[in-house]
Amino acid sequence: MNINQNYENLEQSYLFSTIAHKVNDFISKNLDKKVIRLGIGDVTLPLCKKVIEALHKAVDEMGVQATFRGYGPEQGYDFLREAVQGYYKKRNVELDLDEIFISDGAKSDVGNILDLFAQDNTVLVPDPVYPVYVDTNVMAGRTVIFADANGDNVFLPMPDKSKKVDLIYICSPNNPTGAVYNKEQLQAWVDYAKETNAIILFDAAYECFISDENLPRSIYEIEGAKDCAIEFCSLSKTAGFTGTRCGYTIVPKALGKLNKMWLRRQTTKFNGVPYIIQRGAEAVFTDEGQKEIKENINYYKENAKIISETLTRCNIWHVGGKHSPYIWLKCPNNMKSWEFFDYLLENAQIVGTPGAGFGKNGEEYFRLTSFGSRENTIEAMERFEKLFG
Ligand SMILES: *Cc1c(COP(=O)(O)O)cnc(C)c1O
Repeated sequence: MNINQNYENLEQSYLFSTIAHKVNDFISKNLDKKVIRLGIGDVTLPLCKKVIEALHKAVDEMGVQATFRGYGPEQGYDFLREAVQGYYKKRNVELDLDEIFISDGAKSDVGNILDLFAQDNTVLVPDPVYPVYVDTNVMAGRTVIFADANGDNVFLPMPDKSKKVDLIYICSPNNPTGAVYNKEQLQAWVDYAKETNAIILFDAAYECFISDENLPRSIYEIEGAKDCAIEFCSLSKTAGFTGTRCGYTIVPKALGKLNKMWLRRQTTKFNGVPYIIQRGAEAVFTDEGQKEIKENINYYKENAKIISETLTRCNIWHVGGKHSPYIWLKCPNNMKSWEFFDYLLENAQIVGTPGAGFGKNGEEYFRLTSFGSRENTIEAMERFEKLFG
């Protein structure tokens, strides 16, 4: 046998292990100091009531012969696909049920979708980037090129017509930067993809954090997008499902064969999301469920606002924090991102994530997140302002 040699080409990621090591080392030498973690990339608030009720009810159904369920449809139960369909309809996006595929989260589908594309495709990913986009393609031996996101384009790279690419990853609102594309900018990407016969893989994992009605939450709000884009979404960040696992992927029939190919791929390699979980997910889309998840999202967004306002008072350049749980800041005093990490830990006992961990364009930047508690966020920002105010 021969192993897949492409794995040799993966860059080792020491980002989170290095952070953990540095933090533990600091704590062991400074037992009297309270370290506040603003690097959390996971939700912290519990599932909402409506979801818990639905989960309990579904568990009970599984214990009764008349309502027990075995294998479900690989692409998801109709009740959940209809709920997703209704959710898109609120934004005037019409989808057929067979364009909606229920998944166990966006990460798996963002990787799995690559089964549908030839190995010699060239892939465009933004830098800085969510590492999954790069690594899944490296594993498959594809050539990855980068679209530079930086201060000049406010971390929203636009198409470069001199480059010919086949697959384009877009994440908006973005992880790690929190930057959000507006309609005109996304229209330019859609036009570019159509002109060059490329496919956009649109990661909408943070769409729920958008509160401005004029900003697109789905790529399908953009004219022509159904002809060139696949959309991934997840209940992970929007409804606290990171440990519960449920998402959905939209593969429009206007993409031709790809819709049927994805169905074939899923029916072959996937046996669906548990019935119990899909009932929990369905509850997210009810009016009450939406109201309850908004409360949680607003809690995170208020934290983000507190961080962003502190940075503004300290004259520190940053993006995000408005339609996103992430705040991406320029390290003060020309520090490099790891240097700033050490400085902040040493002098304010705040933990964030060095931008360098997300790509070369993150070298002078730093990510803070709003997934901590209100109390800790306020305390961290008071410490921050003492240092930089
Ligand atoms: C958290 C996150 C997801 C969601 O992944 P799941 O597998 O659904 O938990 C997708 N994309 C990005 C960029 C994320 O940060």
